[in-house]
Amino acid sequence: MHAARRLGSEQQVGIPATANHSMKITTRCPRSKAKKLCTIVLACIATLCVLLIANAAKLKSLQLKVLAIDPSGIEPSDIDQDSALAHLSAAVQLPTISHRNRARNNTTAFHDFQTLLESTYPAVTTNLSKYTGEDFGDPDNASLLYQWSSSSNEDTSAVLLMAHYDVVPVEQSTLANWKHPPFSGAIDGEYVWGRGTLDDKCATIALMEACERLINSGFRPQRDVYLAFGHDEEVGGRYGNQQISDWMRSRGIRLSMVLDEGGGIYRGVPGLDQPAALIGIAEKGFLNITMTVQLDDAGHAAIPPQETAIVILANAITKLQQTPFPTKLDGGISRMLDYLGPEMSFLDRVVIGNRQLFGSLIENRFSNTPAGNAALRTTMVPTMIESGFTENALPSAATANLHLRIQPGETVESSVSFVRSVIQDDRVTLHTDRTLDGTPRDQLPFREPSRISSDTSKSFRALHQTIKQVYPDVTVAPFFVVASTDSAHYDTPALSQDVYRFTPWNLDQTGLTLIHGVNERISTREFVQMIRFYEQLLINLVGNTQD
Ligand SMILES: [Zn+2]
Repeated sequence: MHAARRLGSEQQVGIPATANHSMKITTRCPRSKAKKLCTIVLACIATLCVLLIANAAKLKSLQLKVLAIDPSGIEPSDIDQDSALAHLSAAVQLPTISHRNRARNNTTAFHDFQTLLESTYPAVTTNLSKYTGEDFGDPDNASLLYQWSSSSNEDTSAVLLMAHYDVVPVEQSTLANWKHPPFSGAIDGEYVWGRGTLDDKCATIALMEACERLINSGFRPQRDVYLAFGHDEEVGGRYGNQQISDWMRSRGIRLSMVLDEGGGIYRGVPGLDQPAALIGIAEKGFLNITMTVQLDDAGHAAIPPQETAIVILANAITKLQQTPFPTKLDGGISRMLDYLGPEMSFLDRVVIGNRQLFGSLIENRFSNTPAGNAALRTTMVPTMIESGFTENALPSAATANLHLRIQPGETVESSVSFVRSVIQDDRVTLHTDRTLDGTPRDQLPFREPSRISSDTSKSFRALHQTIKQVYPDVTVAPFFVVASTDSAHYDTPALSQDVYRFTPWNLDQTGLTLIHGVNERISTREFVQMIRFYEQLLINLVGNTQD
């Protein structure tokens, strides 16, 4: 301030009197120009603000307005909670771990699980047709299919509700960290503890409880209902649901809707005060690529060449790390924003309502977390690496496994092309059909991304309605699942119309780490709500009340 005043007085002192008039003219001109410019800029900003606000105002809520079936918000009192929790506990106590090499499976545990279902749910056992491995042409297939036949012949499109009863193993080194042993099924009043309580025996048991209750209440479905319980979902479902899907297709069965795990109710979605019930309308594909560098002459470790097999491979991996797949704000993510946006704060609505303008802002916000980043693009990460045989010699070969999760809209082929274009080194060869040691892969190394199912279908509406009836305080939205589920085996137009992925868990970030993790557990309240959810879903989907 002081310096400016001094500069002003110096100017006055230095300006000749004769030049004063012309100075006035020249200073006035730029000032009025600046004023004009200022007015134009302000008008533009005002117009832009109006447009931004108008676009934000166009975001209309897509939430269904329905009455909660338990308006008090407390646990359903007509469900025998102790009995249902005991059934889940008994299911968790059977160590139905699935292995890639299925000869390692504990067949007794799988058999006992089937027997448990049969004895625990007499109404289901009596009223539904059960199909097992023998029917699918593979006695070792321990997956189960139940058919609940329709009481009417009017609508021939059936509904398939899925869950899986295999679980992932427990890392031995973490056993001491479990509050209750992983196959104890301990009930402490607040939680049921153990492997599979969240993923996915809770859904298996909740579905059976819901059907048992409906049958006992005299309910008869107006369309066929199938229940599929996979025994090898955690290792790809090749000998379970893949065979069931083939069997269904061979019998000309048509499914209007498939519902499997994959989405859930999540707390802590940025910008949203209430929990979000995210229904997966698509899921990513996956791909494993073996990257190999094989040199004719490895060189000598005492006089090493500039580039060794390990260095060439490491450089290729570094390039991939530095050049991720481009982000895409379309498909499932875009529809999710359409549903979540109107329920968010004013500023968030402005950003989401003008996503052509703020696309990069939204992408940056998503990219800040690994989960958000995975939702935006095809991801790739090296998962295995092998090279070298002794400390003082150069290996001629180096190999790595690159694991990709492919976003809907991309394909296996386009993903391989992208990887190749980033590496740009012919010395690095890419193979999808062999493992690191060069032997053919036992499991399918890839799966194309799924189709994107409708978020305006009758089935989606029934799901949306059910969620709102049972969980009135959540915001429903479609999204796409970054993991793989067994529903992929049914994701073909020849068999199914729409495939959705949703289990009504109510989880925060901590809850998410329990899946496949230490101290996996489900809240007793959430589990009872799950029974209510499946029961109401069946009423909405195949009951008399459906329009
Ligand atoms: Zn699962």
